Amino acid sequence: MTQETNSIPVKEEQPEEEQVQFKLHKPSEIKAFLDRYVIGQEIAKKTVAVAVYNHYKRILYHQVGEDIEIDKSNILLIGPTGTGKTLLAQTLARFLSVPFALADATTLTEAGYVGEDVENILVRLLQVSNYNVPATEQGIIYIDEIDKIGRKASSPSITRDVSGEGVQQALLKILEGTIANVPPKGGRKHPEQQLIPIDTRNILFICGGSFDGLSEILDRRKGDRAIGFKSTVKKAAVERQTPILSEIEPSDLIQFGFIPELVGRLPVVAGLTDLDEAALQRVLTEPKNALVKQYQKLFLMEGIELEFTKDALKAIIKRAMERKSGARALRAVMEEFMMDLMFELPEIENVRRVTITPQVVTKGAKPRYRYIRRKSA
Ligand code: ADP
Repeated sequence: MTQETNSIPVKEEQPEEEQVQFKLHKPSEIKAFLDRYVIGQEIAKKTVAVAVYNHYKRILYHQVGEDIEIDKSNILLIGPTGTGKTLLAQTLARFLSVPFALADATTLTEAGYVGEDVENILVRLLQVSNYNVPATEQGIIYIDEIDKIGRKASSPSITRDVSGEGVQQALLKILEGTIANVPPKGGRKHPEQQLIPIDTRNILFICGGSFDGLSEILDRRKGDRAIGFKSTVKKAAVERQTPILSEIEPSDLIQFGFIPELVGRLPVVAGLTDLDEAALQRVLTEPKNALVKQYQKLFLMEGIELEFTKDALKAIIKRAMERKSGARALRAVMEEFMMDLMFELPEIENVRRVTITPQVVTKGAKPRYRYIRRKSA
């Protein structure tokens, strides 16, 4: 995952307090930009747009000296893998031209009991902003796999902190707003090292996770209330993969393994749903940086037109769906057959157009070539 380094508002010639100026974008403007990159997930995009608008409005009000305290709206994104959670956070940062850093909750520990590891996320944000502290203090941090630090999580990847609670406590501190003194290059703090103070009060945190098992918690709670309807509830839980978000209560997240304070600091919850066949087709072809467009551009650099038949696209989607990792699988599936093709292509002369048929995808067959000067069809 690339980090946005080219769009950071660094204006070194200005005094510090004037270095970060941003325009307050309306929710509809934010959503319209997200629409260009993120397919579907309408509710999530809308929820995020409003939360981000409120977040930056809150900062602006604070800057003009308003004394009303508006709570920070850190966001929790719940949805299966490969449905666009990271993409959403990343696209948002690109739109707002603020520094963006990505962290994986499973790699966080409470090492040394001073929370250095969690603070390393801030170091990353500081680095992508070219050590511009005011810009860093208004950046966005996406923390992936937040569900894996639930207290009862039995994830094998959590080796150093089995409970996850220590990490939650450390995260809580930076989420709610603190002055964290971070070592500029990350790693452990040394007594003689110069530390940079970062105020995290205005950093927007977006946390994401698939929350496997949350549906069951929700259903159990509802089942407890609706005695006598348990079998129906059980059936609904089996049929449904993602929990119904409108029904999630803080108590469900606490039951899942989160400390109440952390749940309280993630007041905006948005859900992303599995992408169906039609949505995956749109992911392949529509966004500004869609995979099909990327390959077409690569081919065009050699003067060759690349096209996919409708059935070829369907075959790619079918294969990707079998992998059950959402849109994430599309690239892997495409790489498999495109790799051979890209290996051979520079050797084949006079090709004008390459057409990918379903057989290329499913059987590794050769694509259809069109040659310059009608050599063959
Ligand atoms: P998640 O964080 O939900 O696991 P990502 O956002 O990392 O998933 O998605 C992986 C890749 O799949 C993205 O880089 C993007 O190319 C594609 N993708 C996933 N969801 C969408 C979507 N809703 N719209 C467009 N592309 C998507």
